[in-house]
Amino acid sequence: MMLRKPGYYDQFVCLGGSCPDSCCQMWDIQVDDESAKRYLALPGALGDRLRQVLVKDEEGYTLCQEAGRCPMWRQDGLCQIQKELGEEALCHVCSQFPRLKHEYEGLTELGLELSCPEAARLILANREFSLTETGAIPDGDELLKLLDRSRKEAFRLLSDRRYSAGERLAQLLLFAYGVQEELDGGDNRDFDPQKALETAKTFAKGGDLNAMLAFFRDLEILTPQWAQQLEAEPVYSPWTEEYAALAGYFILRYWLQAASDYDLVGRVKLAISSCLVIRALGGELLQTAQLYSKEIENDIDNVDALLDGAYTESCFCDAALLDLLLNS
Ligand code: SF4
Repeated sequence: MMLRKPGYYDQFVCLGGSCPDSCCQMWDIQVDDESAKRYLALPGALGDRLRQVLVKDEEGYTLCQEAGRCPMWRQDGLCQIQKELGEEALCHVCSQFPRLKHEYEGLTELGLELSCPEAARLILANREFSLTETGAIPDGDELLKLLDRSRKEAFRLLSDRRYSAGERLAQLLLFAYGVQEELDGGDNRDFDPQKALETAKTFAKGGDLNAMLAFFRDLEILTPQWAQQLEAEPVYSPWTEEYAALAGYFILRYWLQAASDYDLVGRVKLAISSCLVIRALGGELLQTAQLYSKEIENDIDNVDALLDGAYTESCFCDAALLDLLLNS
């Protein structure tokens, strides 16, 4: 059994009251049954307040927003439950956020979500893609081993500074096709990044950021700020190293998930399209990336729409993505 986490994982400390966004904003919080029952049994003013704001429906208990925030949020940016009862009294969602856990047969991977500003800061500063691990993946799971081995190669491609971050993402797309072939039962082929780049250049055409932004406007939207950003003219800023770090985050989070349905290319297109859209929206990269994650990654319907769109929307076809990566 292996436990693995990114090098920055243990550096995360919640910003608490000084958080510029706060995870208590714009979301209804799903409260696990055990915590909800504990909250409902509390005496005094805190219990009264929780009995007032905890809503139960067929899906369980929810703390519904009041004026765009969790009803337990205080003016000083702190949580009323945490303030009065300590961190251990938080429900499962609040005590875990922004920590991620992905479990595979014989492997548990931990991570941080881009939708938290402090996690986003650590993610965008990550240049090495280092992972710390203990234990080993047990023998026998060849699919997971193939994905794991190929993801390490993907990280090596993303770290190769002889190429711009846009070129590295183009190489990554072609590399993913090679791994996909292997996942589908084909042979393992050597990958030459330089040749892949030359091939990518011959394919690149028809990139359309406006069509891509229109696709995102049709997804579920949480905040007015996001709706407004999606209406603005696309920005063509330089492919800085932060975009390689951003792509590394998406690759870390989604690559191994192809173990569930053998769709690696769709996930790599998701990673690339996410980088393209975040870049096109302009503003402070950290804030835009964080908002993107909150709007897209935290809504499973939006993630599924993107994975489907990778194969059905012309703005996500290979030629169009390569064009945007190499020529914009
Ligand atoms: S968004 Fe992140 S830093 Fe801000 S309050 Fe939540 S966990 Fe803490």
